[in-house]
Amino acid sequence: MTGILERYSEIVGWDVIDQLHQLAATLKGIKVVHVNSTRRGGGVAEILAKLVPLKQELGIDAKWEVIEGNEEFYTCTKNFHNALQGNKVTIPDSLLRIYEETVASNTAALETTLTGADIVFIHDPQPLPLLKLLPERKGKWIWRCHIDVSRPYRPVWKYIRSLVEGYDASIFSLSAFAQPLPHTEYLISPSIDPLSEKNIELDAGEVQEIISGFGIDQGRPIMLQVSRFDRFKDPVGVIQAFRLTKKFVPNLQLVLAGGEATDDPESTAVLKEVRLASNNDNDIHILLLPADAHRKINALQRSADIVMQKSTREGFGLTVTEAMWKGKPVIGGDTGGIRIQVVNHHTGFLVKAPEGAALRARYLLFHRNRLKEMGEKAKQFVLDNFLLTRHLREYLTVMVSLLHGRGERITLE
Ligand code: UDP
Repeated sequence: MTGILERYSEIVGWDVIDQLHQLAATLKGIKVVHVNSTRRGGGVAEILAKLVPLKQELGIDAKWEVIEGNEEFYTCTKNFHNALQGNKVTIPDSLLRIYEETVASNTAALETTLTGADIVFIHDPQPLPLLKLLPERKGKWIWRCHIDVSRPYRPVWKYIRSLVEGYDASIFSLSAFAQPLPHTEYLISPSIDPLSEKNIELDAGEVQEIISGFGIDQGRPIMLQVSRFDRFKDPVGVIQAFRLTKKFVPNLQLVLAGGEATDDPESTAVLKEVRLASNNDNDIHILLLPADAHRKINALQRSADIVMQKSTREGFGLTVTEAMWKGKPVIGGDTGGIRIQVVNHHTGFLVKAPEGAALRARYLLFHRNRLKEMGEKAKQFVLDNFLLTRHLREYLTVMVSLLHGRGERITLE
């Protein structure tokens, strides 16, 4: 056994890798295509960049395709995102037509690949209309929803549902997101890649160099949130929590690290709000990082004393997993996917308001042993639940069950 997967055995053990090979043996040579709307920025791109090569290594003919759109298209899909996460957003019919036409304009380039595939995974709402546009499809099509759809704004969900209904199955990240749909629904939580630049061990010298390169003082405590500049991530709430904590820890610094996802037209406005709220405070570092700054984010997460993810809605929150893997407890918004990662008082704290976040930050800063102990539990929790190998196993299982049907029995040697 050679290749990338072999390297994971050192972390998860040989049995896990063996099982992946056995499951994949029943899928050898099948054509699988993943479709989303960006190659860079955000959790979906982060996961696909890892999952697709591993499927290839397991003998599956896996591809990753990206649909392209213009500004109006992304405005519409950002509206979907906001509405599905609960905001009351009215989307004019004219914008919906642009959305549908944009997806239609992508079909020519994708038609052969998609109609010939045995399995197609459509990620999030952006490429959803592809199914109706390609009626001669051969394979099974699955909608993979990464968004917190626990309380969607109904009129928009009704429209999205009309596009989802024709799919053969859906996958949600947690049970709270499952919706009444006329097909099988699977629950698969996302994962991180422990061998990626974002998550590998870094030596202290490199961490120090990166941190001081940003003008951050390693001799003083650091509070960090890594996130796209999106209102659901509540960066302004983090600034409020920082100010409250600073009353008790005067030398505290805040780092808000983010970048721009190419499919997010709102980030510029949110960044402006964040700059305004920071009020030119020299102890607040707002970092705009390119999409491939993985080692830098890794170093920031390793150097942080307090990691925040104060989201008000969160599909999963890979940033939470990433920090926990580095032995950090996370102070996270009591919402969506953060709830299945942050076990309150064990792997971090769940909070709602900036006051609560500040209270927990202060507690951890003054109880370093507890911080360390919770960080160790956090790392173990990720090892047990949120690594790429578990994610891959669940994807393979879904494919086996869709292609072989319920009646057939698959025996793994
Ligand atoms: N990320 C990044 N650069 C940034 C901000 C985020 O590389 O400036 C990464 C982050 O490390 C994580 C992913 O993008 O791997 C964000 O995933 P998450 O599930 O936390 O949130 P999403 O952006 O998908 O809502």
